[in-house]
Amino acid sequence: MTENKFSNLNIEQILAGFKNKTFSSFELTSYYLDKIKNDKLNAFISINDQVLAEAKKADSKIAQGEMAKLTGVPIAIKDILLVKGQRATGASKMLENYIAPYTATAIKKLEDQGAIILGKTNCDEFAMGASNENSAFGPVLNPHDTSRVPGGSSGGSAAAIAADLAPIALGTDTGGSIRQPAAFCGLVGLKPSYGRVSRYGSMAMASSLDQIGPFSKSVKDAAYLLQIMAGRDKYDLSASYNVVPDYFSLLKNQEPRKLKVGLPKEYFSDALAPSIKQALDKTIDFLQEQKIVVEKVSLPYTEYALAAYYILMPAEVSSNLARLDGLRFGHHENNDLNLDDWYKKVRAAGFSAESKRRIMLGTYILSAGYYDAYYKQAQKLRTVIKQDFQKVFAKVDVLLTPTTPTTAFKLGEKLADPLSMYLADIFTVSANIAGICGLSLPMGVDENNLPIGIQLLADSFQEEKLFSLGNFIEQNI
Ligand code: GLN
Repeated sequence: MTENKFSNLNIEQILAGFKNKTFSSFELTSYYLDKIKNDKLNAFISINDQVLAEAKKADSKIAQGEMAKLTGVPIAIKDILLVKGQRATGASKMLENYIAPYTATAIKKLEDQGAIILGKTNCDEFAMGASNENSAFGPVLNPHDTSRVPGGSSGGSAAAIAADLAPIALGTDTGGSIRQPAAFCGLVGLKPSYGRVSRYGSMAMASSLDQIGPFSKSVKDAAYLLQIMAGRDKYDLSASYNVVPDYFSLLKNQEPRKLKVGLPKEYFSDALAPSIKQALDKTIDFLQEQKIVVEKVSLPYTEYALAAYYILMPAEVSSNLARLDGLRFGHHENNDLNLDDWYKKVRAAGFSAESKRRIMLGTYILSAGYYDAYYKQAQKLRTVIKQDFQKVFAKVDVLLTPTTPTTAFKLGEKLADPLSMYLADIFTVSANIAGICGLSLPMGVDENNLPIGIQLLADSFQEEKLFSLGNFIEQNI
């Protein structure tokens, strides 16, 4: 497709375009809507039919000089997040026709700054997956190569930006679902620290691991969006009272050269794809040229992270998805079954194979007799994994690692083998287990022209370090 004045804009360029009258929000929104309507990637589940009217309203505000931080800026939203009056499916047959009764706090904060919602993006059912093939609405394709997956579970949000169907998007990250699709689609993806952004209005997958975060084309945009979304919320007591720093200004003022970077040896195994290893080497060379201290560190419990995640996560999933029973939430057919048969029928028909697998696993893990053997042991691992990070963050500011062991894989490649699919999360789950923050940054392409992602990790509530170093790398490599 030919480039035009709307192509590949970031937030700064959009706001400048509105201000200088190069284009209106209505024109820009129409550009995205046309592209969404012709989309062959299956990136969206639903379109907001009010968005053009909202863009018009934004234009009149702009004409009156009333510009908030995102007035008239369109955004795509993962269909796990609620927007009042709009359909919210969780990419599940279970909630096919569910209309959200309220708006997620993170989205409300963006709307309060004038953002307008293009629509809801496709994802893995209830955010469970690493390829976006577990959606009741069909898989999403990777715009860089349509025979490949965009990553999961927030694949629709990532594909939408990479195909320029939206300039920015929101996703959720429970074990890597923002960072991994960002890596596969060549974008910036941020998993904020646990508690940095309210989870109110996000369909719960694993409540102690879930976080809402942005996808964008630049680190600056991610900082700008976090700035708006972060902070306390009376509707989510796990949302932190910690002061929200001015991430956006800090990005310009902080001195990235003062940050110490650690390379955890457990993340640099021989199993890593050679092209990803090269992208990391290039980054390390650059940091050293810039006289940034780079040192090897160790996180010895890393090898248990994936096992701990795949115990803790399904335990929480089985409990969170219990409300989807066709009585409180979820589809049902009118019939006069007894309660047992009702549950069996509704849940068998409404959930995908992956959801059922995790519900069964989680129920087993939490059942009397197995709780101590599995759940309690995994909780102990969680503690030592956290301690690993505490120790290294006493020495270094930021860790540099791969985001994924490979670049985007083929559709269907891992579908029949859940264990190989779970291995795709090997470098991302630890951040969720420990509650720290992580950023995936694009770093070139592999031999098949597929994007490569590198990951920066920082201690809880130190997102400004990720932004500072991430922006420095993005601007200079
Ligand atoms: N791929 C991981 C999983 O399947 C992560 C999912 C997520 O972060 N939502 O659980």
